[in-house]
Amino acid sequence: MTVPFLELARETQELRDELDAAIDRVLRASAFVLGEEVERFERDFAAYCGAEHAVGVASGTDAIAIALRAVGVRAGDEVITAANTCTPTIAGIEHAGAVPVLADVDAGTYTLDPAALERVATPRTRAIVPVHLYGQCAEMERILGFARAHGLKVVEDAAQAHGAEYGGARAGSLADAAAFSFYPTKNLGALGDGGAVLTSDGDVAERARRLRNYGERERHVSDERGTNSRLDGLQAALLGVKLAHLERWNERRRRLARRYDELLDDTAFHRPQEAGGRRHVYHLYVLRSRERDRVRAALHARGIETLVHYPRPVHRQPAYSELAPEGGLEVSERLCDEVLSLPLYPQLADAELEEVAAALADLAAPAT
Ligand SMILES: *Cc1c(COP(=O)(O)O)cnc(C)c1O
Repeated sequence: MTVPFLELARETQELRDELDAAIDRVLRASAFVLGEEVERFERDFAAYCGAEHAVGVASGTDAIAIALRAVGVRAGDEVITAANTCTPTIAGIEHAGAVPVLADVDAGTYTLDPAALERVATPRTRAIVPVHLYGQCAEMERILGFARAHGLKVVEDAAQAHGAEYGGARAGSLADAAAFSFYPTKNLGALGDGGAVLTSDGDVAERARRLRNYGERERHVSDERGTNSRLDGLQAALLGVKLAHLERWNERRRRLARRYDELLDDTAFHRPQEAGGRRHVYHLYVLRSRERDRVRAALHARGIETLVHYPRPVHRQPAYSELAPEGGLEVSERLCDEVLSLPLYPQLADAELEEVAAALADLAAPAT
């Protein structure tokens, strides 16, 4: 049996009739940029996240940039984020005109280590972007505590965390603002690019609405310099269809993760840890092994496709080497050499998961 890492066509097929109906509705109304479909989706997604406002934008990267500007980050301000994130987090910070500053992460949850904030904060620090990596929220209580004590804003990078919870509250409602991506492979994915800024602060929401549309409050009057980053009516309608299935899908992801946990219990792999008080939504199920490359090759030879999120920390990317702090970032660097993402998505069959787990168990108890 071959097991693909992800086969998006299964999700599309599952919803084919509903998606067709939504497309038909948009074609009839012919409102293609912003408009009623976008407003309806914004209301529904804000309610899902437990936030007051959602502002649909063109991508997750844009959502980070617009959220940062909307909470008051200005050109030249420093913004702290996790070194093991993917580069769009950094691109978003730089699109806001800010300077990214990398901090190390916790080896248990792979998210921003609150203790690392102290080491990298300077008088120019203006905001923190914790990344809810793989579908688990960062340690928000301590991050928010640090931010409040130092007058900093916090913007969640929730691009992998639709429906994740921390202390009973959902990602998107945990800080000053949050950025979501609706890239097709995310837990809630459009049929193209899309994103959203979430906030419960009316002023932040209004500013984000302006920034996504040339800085205009009123047509043809730019109150400030904005951009074009709007959500399409078509994508909003399709996202609305999928939002109705998100909770069922997240529960299925959690069940599959528990099944991996059980089946891999006797192996020496480090399995993902769900920290207390958090709801992990397993955008990715990520193991760790010192022999990651050997394990990956052996799985590949059996027809099992895996991926690495991410093979290099940000400061080891050619484009961002200047962000490397002196002495490096030990945990982030080690994790990038050891992490391995297994197939896990709502339409993955139980038999496929069992095939992956059996292949892993067959690999002579690799050292971790
Ligand atoms: C996907 C992703 C982004 C960027 O989203 P795009 O919609 O692709 O711009 C940002 N941060 C994280 C952690 C992501 O996974």
